[in-house]
This record gives sequence, C-alpha cells and structure tokens, in this order.
Amino acid sequence: MREIEVPVLICGGSLVGMSAAMFLAQHGIRALSVEYHRGTAIHPRAALANQRTIELFRTVGLEDLICQRSAEQFVQNGGIVAVETLRGGTTAEFIADLNEGVRDVSPCERVFLSQNALEPLLKQRAVDLGAEFRFATEVISVTQDSSGVTACLRDRDTGEESIVHAKYAIAADGAHSRIRQQLGMKMQGHQTFSHSVTIYFRADLKPLLWDKTWAVVYVNHPQLRGFFRFEKPFESGFLVVNTAGDATHPVTDVSTGLTNERALQFIHTALGTYAIPVTVENIMHWNARADVADKFRSGRVFLAGDSAHVMPPTGGFGGNTGVQDAHNLAWKLALVLSGRAPEQLLDTYEVERAPVATFTVEQAYTRYVVRTAPDLKPAGMQPYVQDLNIELGYVYRSPAIVPPPDGPSHMHPRESHGLPGTRAPHVWLERGGQRVSTLDLFGPHFTLVGGPAAQEWAHCAAAAAAQSKLALNPFCVGTNGLDDHGNLTAAYGIEPAGCAIVRPDGFVGWRSSSNEPASTRTLSTVLAQMTCGSA
Ligand SMILES: Cc1cc2nc3c(=O)[nH]c(=O)nc-3n(C[C@H](O)[C@H](O)[C@H](O)COP(=O)(O)OP(=O)(O)OC[C@H]3O[C@@H](n4cnc5c(N)ncnc54)[C@H](O)[C@@H]3O)c2cc1C
Repeated sequence: MREIEVPVLICGGSLVGMSAAMFLAQHGIRALSVEYHRGTAIHPRAALANQRTIELFRTVGLEDLICQRSAEQFVQNGGIVAVETLRGGTTAEFIADLNEGVRDVSPCERVFLSQNALEPLLKQRAVDLGAEFRFATEVISVTQDSSGVTACLRDRDTGEESIVHAKYAIAADGAHSRIRQQLGMKMQGHQTFSHSVTIYFRADLKPLLWDKTWAVVYVNHPQLRGFFRFEKPFESGFLVVNTAGDATHPVTDVSTGLTNERALQFIHTALGTYAIPVTVENIMHWNARADVADKFRSGRVFLAGDSAHVMPPTGGFGGNTGVQDAHNLAWKLALVLSGRAPEQLLDTYEVERAPVATFTVEQAYTRYVVRTAPDLKPAGMQPYVQDLNIELGYVYRSPAIVPPPDGPSHMHPRESHGLPGTRAPHVWLERGGQRVSTLDLFGPHFTLVGGPAAQEWAHCAAAAAAQSKLALNPFCVGTNGLDDHGNLTAAYGIEPAGCAIVRPDGFVGWRSSSNEPASTRTLSTVLAQMTCGSA
C-alpha cells in the first residue's frame, strides 16, 4: 500500500480545507488536502465574503481577482431586503448598500462571490504556494498517537487505498464531519430547526430585477419563508426555503419528499407570478442548525469550519468563520512544526476560536429568527449585535495575548484602538507615493508597529526576535518612508514612543501604550508569552 508523509493532512478540500491549505503554504508548510468530490464546488452556496475574509485573501494576493470576478457575477454593493413576493417589492430593508458605513475600517470591502467561483481561485493560489490536493479521494479513518496522525485514504475511482502519515490533521470535512464523530466530539446548541432546501433554477428575471440593486432577498410569504440570491445577468438564481405554510405554525421539514412540481410552485409563489417560465435545475437538501462542537481539538486533530460550527446562512457568517479558523490555526501550526513554539500554542486555537464560533452562531440564529422565523421564540435568542462587531470586532482572550483582556468579547472595530486581543486596526499610510494599509505591513511574521518616536522599541524588537528565532518586521511611522498623516498613534492607542506587536494573524498580541522605556528583555518575554514558550 502506498504511504505518504506530509506535515499536515487536511480532510476536506472545500472552502475551509482549501483556505487552510493555502494559509499553511503561505507559512511554508506543505499540506495535503483530501477531497471526496472530483473537483471544486459545483453549487454557489456561500457568496458573502466579509471584510476580514477579504483582508486574509489580500495577504495572499487574491483580493483584486476576487473583486474582478465578483463584478462579473453580482450587482456590486447590493442590498439585503425582504419581500412578500419579488414582484410585490420590499417590505423591509436590512442593509441598503453592502459597504455603506464600513469603508473606513478596512482597506477591503465586503464582496459577493459564490463558492463555485471562489474555490478555483483559492485552489490555484494554494497550489502556487506549494499546497497539494487529492480529489475524488475519501478519508476513511484517522488514528493518532503521541508522534503523529495516520489516515487511510481510498481513491473513489480505482478503490486503491493509501496511508498518510502527518504530524497534525485538520478536519475541514463539513457539518456531518466523520472525523468529529470518530473522535467523539459533540455538537451543542439549538440543533436542527428546519430541514431546508436550496432550489437552483433558471428563469428570465430581468423584468423583475433590472432596476434593483439587491443581493439577497428574504421572502416572508404566508406560504413560505426563505431567501433568494441572484447572479447577473438575472437568468438564474436560487431560492432557499426554510419553512412552509402558516408562519405561526410552519412546516419545518420542506425537504422530505419534495417533488420538482412542489419546488416549482415554491419559486412561482416567491416570485409572485406564474408568467415567468422557470426551470428547476437542482435541489440541495440541508439542515438549518445553530451548533458548536464541544471541543475544537482532540490531540493532533483540529476541527475547522462547518465541522466545528454550523449556523443558518442568515448573516452570511458560516464560511467566513471557517476561513478565519483556518487562518488562526495556520501560523500556530507553522511555528510548532518548525520548532519555534511549543505544543501549548496549539491549545490557544480552541481558546480563541470557540468563543468566536459560539458568538457568531448565536448571532446567525438571532438573524434567522428575526428575518425569517417568527414562530421561533425570541426568548431563546441573544440580542442582535451589529455586523461589524461580528466580522471584525471579536476579541481573543488566551495566553497568546499579553495580557489576556478581561473586557467584552466583542467590540466595534472603530473602538478597539489596538487593544491586545483585537484585530490590529487599519490605517492608511503612504509609502513612495503609494497608499498602503497598516494591514499590508503584516505577514506570516510578527510585526512591530511603532509611533514616530519608537525607534528604540524597533531595535529592541529585532534583537528579541533574533534571540527567540522568530521572524519580526519592525515599522515605525515617520521612518521607513512611511507617512501616517498623524493617524497611527490614536488608532493604535499608543504614545508617539509606544508600539504594538502584531501576531502573524494580524491580531494585536501586546502593546506598550505608556512611555515605558524600550527594552529587549520586555520584548523577549512578550514574544515568549505570545508563543506560549519561555523567554
Ligand atoms: C444556501 C447557503 C448559503 C450560504 N451563504 C453563505 C454566505 O453567503 N457566506 C458564508 O460565509 N457562508 C455561507 N453559507 C455557509 C457556507 O456554505 C459554509 O459555512 C461553508 O461551505 C463551510 O465550508 P467547509 O469547507 O467547512 O465545509 P463544506 O463546504 O461542507 O466542505 C466540506 C468538504 O469535505 C468533504 N468531505 C467530507 N467528508 C470527507 C471525507 N471523509 N473524505 C474526503 N472529503 C470529505 C466534502 O466533500 C466537502 O467538500 C451558506 C450556506 C448555505 C447552505
């Protein structure tokens, strides 16, 4: 039997598995992603990539390409509205313009690009960076011992089996994760509240949509609740149906026994007209759930994406949360695999990501109840928190943050001001006549971001990083040809002689906000704490 050795095995090669492979490759870690399907996604599914996700894709040079494809596929900056029927017009407006009021907090915008168009871009970039994929291959089993993980793979065409030996594995195998089940991890939360369907269809929708700038249209009709999403040139789309019948006592299983005729009827009802010919192309069956795994790690295996958390699509958070899991895990695995950080750093993955997942899942559930399921009791839902706190404002509290913050678990990104545990703020800088974001200074390495009088800290940081064998790039505004137009210190909550250390995932790990003297010793201790090591 063929035997393969890789540092990291990724079970699943869809949105999250591919992202994990890509981010690991960005850190120079060769990962093998094994995917049951024969290629990248064939259904649109996720489309809304939030600013944080685009920021991460920007770090691997994919932002422009994604935006270009998005412009071909979607009305730009489309709104999120509700209707009783598409023909009848809006009954509520949740978001008028996708990027209104959020452009100042990030160099990136929210983008719609469906999963089947995004995945080929991710795959190509991952391969270019050194990742490997095996499609049409099933991971049959995963076992582990103190030295590594062993997985058995089966080629779906030839039936040939092979063995993979890896140091670590990531289970990015989706909501029904076999690996999660094999490891005995349980999902906890609201469980299934609807057996839903996504009906993909073709129809000439131009007469209804040509003058609209809608990206997602919730349908709250006496006979069904769900949402439409349309692509240009409005000749196709999908309708999700979550519940049918009386809204106060709905049928929550619209999936079992759904016929093509009934699916067609749903579409005509939601369109509000039978005059437009419709062809049903495909029906996907899925469960609307809001659950989080009780553990994100079992020994050398980590859950990421839908295997770790499942949420309804209301809010468009599911795929984004998974991509951000992968990004959080990649730098930690890279440091541990290269011997520059101890195993304990990997414990911080669950400590940091599980609370984010729980918060996001609850917010997706709240949006589900508010936007589409009035029958579910509002008593069981958490209060609505604005999107930016969810997308950019979650706060990590772990030993890899110095000191671990004890304040709120999320905040508005305009109010975080470089607090350790929050995403390092975006500030526009100028270098050689070019506009760059502070975020463009970060990379697979640690970064010192300093005020205009923080050169001493920069020197100390270089010395401390050399001692600890960590890569660290120091930048002080006013030097390195970087002009911040006086905006950086306030944004990062530091004095002109102060600085922040940003982790490889773009989160502030520590900052010197007062005028304490620069010290290599302090920074050595800080870098050791941020990597869970000893100075
Ligand atoms: C209608 C709809 C709209 C949505 N819209 C959005 C949105 O706008 N924004 C957003 O962020 N999210 C959205 N989501 C959620 C998003 O689609 C998911 O969160 C995302 O696809 C999860 O990605 P994943 O890679 O974790 O899991 P999956 O996409 O489920 O991928 C798991 C992969 O693992 C493979 N696999 C499983 N078991 C094995 C095995 N044993 N061996 C090999 N391969 C295996 C599967 O074949 C699959 O390809 C939406 C979901 C739906 C249903």
